[in-house]
Amino acid sequence: AKARGKNTFHFFSPDLNEAANERLLIENQLREAVREHQFLLYYQPKIDIRDNTIIGYETLLRWLRPDNTLVPPLRFIGVAESTGLIVQIGEWIIWEACRFLSRQHSRGYTVSLSINLSVRQFNDDNLPEIVERIIKRTGADPAYLIFEITESMLMGDTDAAINQLNQLKRLGVSLSIDDFGTGYSSLSYLKRFPVDELKIDRSFVKDIPEDRNDMDIVAAIIAMAQKMNLRVVAEGVETVEQADFLRKNACYQVQGYYYSMPLAEQELSRLNFVISS
Ligand code: C2E
Ligand code: CA
Ligand code: CA
Ligand code: CA
Repeated sequence: AKARGKNTFHFFSPDLNEAANERLLIENQLREAVREHQFLLYYQPKIDIRDNTIIGYETLLRWLRPDNTLVPPLRFIGVAESTGLIVQIGEWIIWEACRFLSRQHSRGYTVSLSINLSVRQFNDDNLPEIVERIIKRTGADPAYLIFEITESMLMGDTDAAINQLNQLKRLGVSLSIDDFGTGYSSLSYLKRFPVDELKIDRSFVKDIPEDRNDMDIVAAIIAMAQKMNLRVVAEGVETVEQADFLRKNACYQVQGYYYSMPLAEQELSRLNFVISS
């Protein structure tokens, strides 16, 4: 067999070309998707596991392409972010989500609604104004709106981040740190940010009850949240054992396939849960 030189880099390998082409393809299709309104929102219930009621939902973006394929966000959020298209898509998400929240409340369901923010959206100086306008126009009650950001968005320019968080809080919404535990948070840094909720990342939940380490980490995050007066939510709960562990450790707000996948609005009525009213 022919030996390959150690320093042979395959910059122009078909693989890399393919990746670049795929990116370009997605970019063009995304522009079209924005023009043609090919996005929709799914909603995953947030359950209170003390009484198994739905206390809220998380908004999750989907791209429904003309050929009827449903594309999950991790396949296109990166491209949407790097092209800046996420700002437009993100504003649409907030509109759509706030209309959903208003509809739920007018039906007597006093649920909360969590909305994921992208880095670009969060760093946009206009975000608080945009949110304020949407709240006013849709009649959504800000006390039931939760914006989810990740730890990495809070690093870097922390003064700017704190300022942005305060501007949002002024509107009456609450703030959540998503994927908590996967970044570089510390107690001292957490204290500086005006957040209301921590969402324990699925990676710490998925191996409960086999992984003792993960169980210790989850218990520690819950205890820390309690000490700091923060709500705590566990994501990615897939089994009854995981739910039992969380309940035993006083984490009562959970999301996960064990309870429900994210669903389109018209499918939510099929769920067999009492909804908070
Ligand atoms: P995330 O915010 O951490 O959302 C949770 C993801 O885990 C969702 O994937 C959800 O469908 C999935 N999930 C929920 N329960 C379970 C479970 O029990 N097991 C497993 N294996 N997965 C579960 P999805 O909808 O594909 O979203 C992936 C990521 O894309 C989200 O992670 C979020 O970072 C991003 N994303 C989704 N929607 C939006 C959005 O509207 N705006 C922005 N900026 N990002 C979004
Ligand atoms: Ca989230
Ligand atoms: Ca998450
Ligand atoms: Ca996650």
